[in-house]
Amino acid sequence: MSLKDTVNTNKIAFFSTQPYDKTFFNKYNDVFGFELDFFETQLNPQTVILIENASIVCVFVNDIINESVLKQLAEKGVKIIALRCAGFNNVDLDAAKKYNLKVCRVPAYSPQAVAEHAMAMILTLNRKTHKAYNRVREQNFSLNGLLGFDLFGKTIGIIGTGNIGKAFAKIALGFGCKVLAYDIVTNTEMEKDGVQFVSLEEIFKTSDIISLHCPLNDQTKHVINKESIALMKESVMLINTSRGGLIETAAVIEGLKEGKIGYLGIDVYEQEEKLFFRDLSADIIQDDAIQRLMSFPNVLVTAHQAFFTNEALTQIALVTFNNIKSLLTDNDIENKTALLV
Ligand code: NAD
Repeated sequence: MSLKDTVNTNKIAFFSTQPYDKTFFNKYNDVFGFELDFFETQLNPQTVILIENASIVCVFVNDIINESVLKQLAEKGVKIIALRCAGFNNVDLDAAKKYNLKVCRVPAYSPQAVAEHAMAMILTLNRKTHKAYNRVREQNFSLNGLLGFDLFGKTIGIIGTGNIGKAFAKIALGFGCKVLAYDIVTNTEMEKDGVQFVSLEEIFKTSDIISLHCPLNDQTKHVINKESIALMKESVMLINTSRGGLIETAAVIEGLKEGKIGYLGIDVYEQEEKLFFRDLSADIIQDDAIQRLMSFPNVLVTAHQAFFTNEALTQIALVTFNNIKSLLTDNDIENKTALLV
């Protein structure tokens, strides 16, 4: 009997799991009855070996699903790779096709969760509520240094108007902002709501706040770089809740030092897989760029938490299980945007 013959088609091996993943996936598994194996470690070429007799692997944003991992997964008899996230820049889709592996994702679990977090970052950076909170606890009731600006009437530029960008545009319109957008596809419904689709250059030149909501791919990598920063308004606010690779970190640090970038809010970071989702409070961080970023008073970093709401985790568990069930029964998924390969 070959190794593949022993593979359990009902067993899912989860990687990069946190306690909340176990809570939500265990809770909703009652209806589905899968066998769940949780690993805290990231999936990478060294950790594939942990998979025992499972035909499904469930991964998250910082797992490494490159050709080497995919080859090993196929050899182990894995058939399905279920991403419990929307972005899929960490998967080599061509290699997945080559090894005959199905890859699915959760395209829109809660666009509001991420859009609301982007707005929370804007409000925090602008009105400095994080500083006010600490100040008042120290009985410092002074307002010096807390001056903000009205969002009403300001221009917000959105790059990427998919599920999250669209939800974010509605919030920005609700605040009375002028909303500009750039996407490779113009959304006429959003235009009716008052969003103006313009060129990328115009977004850079005219926005007071720029919020990134496009996926990371060859076209969008380092869309925020030395040249694009040079086009921006003095003291622009940059918000990135999408993927770290959209921003060239060194260029942004330079922009902050020069004062060209007045505020930076990032929920994602190019080298985040070595940092985020862990408690490193007792460690010496070797990444000098994140340390430099965190040293600026006008930079707010959150550790990839934009998705982290009760509603989003519920949807992630339910859609992931449903995707797997559909692939096992029909070898297909009704929602075509959920099936990548
Ligand atoms: P989506 O697929 O619904 O929308 C992406 C949009 O980007 C589409 O409208 C697409 O046309 C556009 N786009 C593609 N290439 C582009 C380009 N070159 N220039 C401009 N626009 C381009 O995706 P979504 O659900 O809105 O998610 C957007 C991104 O947010 C994901 O790719 C993911 O990386 C990130 N995300 C982050 C979190 C978090 O917790 N921080 C959670 C979910 C998603």
